[in-house]
Amino acid sequence: MNKPRTLIVGAGISGLALAKALLDRGFPVDVVERRAEDGQALGAGLYLPANAVRTLQSIGVGDEVARRAHPVARQQLHDQRGRPLAEFEVGRIWAAVGRCLAITRGDLHEVLRTAVDGTAVRYDIEVSSVADDNTVAFADGAIGAYDLVVGADGINSAVRRSLFGGPEPRFLGQLCWRFLADDSAIPGLTDWTARLGSKGRTFLTVQLGAGRVYCYADINSSVTTAPASDWRALFADFGGPVPRLLEQGADAHFAALHESENTVWARPGAVLVGDAAHAFSPSMAQGGAMALEDALVLADTLETGPDVTAALTAFQARRAERVAWVVAQNHRRDKARNLPTPLRNFTLRRAGERLFKANHAPLHALP
Ligand SMILES: Cc1cc2nc3c(=O)[nH]c(=O)nc-3n(C[C@H](O)[C@H](O)[C@H](O)COP(=O)(O)OP(=O)(O)OC[C@H]3O[C@@H](n4cnc5c(N)ncnc54)[C@H](O)[C@@H]3O)c2cc1C
Repeated sequence: MNKPRTLIVGAGISGLALAKALLDRGFPVDVVERRAEDGQALGAGLYLPANAVRTLQSIGVGDEVARRAHPVARQQLHDQRGRPLAEFEVGRIWAAVGRCLAITRGDLHEVLRTAVDGTAVRYDIEVSSVADDNTVAFADGAIGAYDLVVGADGINSAVRRSLFGGPEPRFLGQLCWRFLADDSAIPGLTDWTARLGSKGRTFLTVQLGAGRVYCYADINSSVTTAPASDWRALFADFGGPVPRLLEQGADAHFAALHESENTVWARPGAVLVGDAAHAFSPSMAQGGAMALEDALVLADTLETGPDVTAALTAFQARRAERVAWVVAQNHRRDKARNLPTPLRNFTLRRAGERLFKANHAPLHALP
């Protein structure tokens, strides 16, 4: 069988994972990435739920990721003053799927990049558009022709805009800040703790090991711009370790959260994976997992036969229901954050673990 000459646009989590999976199966692959090679992967840390860790293992980088990552054994939900609302072992949520980990984005990217043949990825190269006949126009004026173009280029995908249309990403009414902090000498930190404040505010901490902690904070907002004043004042009434961590958050990454779910991810000669196909709020921390699962399933379906168009259609059919489940759970969680505080706290105290289990149950099955 002639394997399609494939261009992967974007060397993020989905693009690099797909490149590794396709190269392992003998496909000729080019990856282009608009960032510079030493450009830092945007963001700070990542929580990798068990289905993400399982997929990393399947594509052959699980051991190296585990070596650099920190295990997350327990999840805790507190109110903003630090009073416990719910607490459970992640093993009870994920059963036999395996363990959950936390890692810096930089480390995950480095592991994936190292696993891909160095010559397959070209940095500092941006795709401007793709024509209906799969002719690719690059920002430097070059033109390329490929049998298969994969849009792994994130929520604002140029491949999606060129070939698939669909709605523009929708603002979710949430702003967030992320940073890494030094956790030595800060008491009160645990593996994973979300502190839930009033008016939809959350301050999450995830320990990364080696004295580092990933901090993620979000608020509701009707506008996509950051407040003019120091964002940290928005969390001044949070207790426990939060005040000391905020001292290190002056240079946090800011983002306005959007979602985008195209109904069509596949057409003859082109396909979307990861956030290019479906980006959603980080409340389930499933974006990375879905991106990795997309990569593995696409490589598997392409390997099954000579009919690339049929493989792309099969890919979307195999992924759609699972991704739709995650989107629906995110919507439920995003609604729950706006419940009146006493009702939210009561619900989490009574049913926190049961709700988390139900949220994740369909993700136990292999993708
Ligand atoms: C605040 C926040 C917190 C999150 N936390 C978690 C978490 O804890 N766990 C988790 O699993 N997920 C999390 N996610 C989701 C996760 O980050 C994404 O789902 C994941 O990064 C998607 O990977 P991707 O490769 O599809 O897209 P991206 O990571 O966006 O990568 C796309 C790549 O394409 C490149 N690119 C874009 N356009 C072009 C172009 N035209 N030409 C060439 N290159 C291009 C970009 O530079 C980029 O490197 C979070 C998301 C947010 C916003």
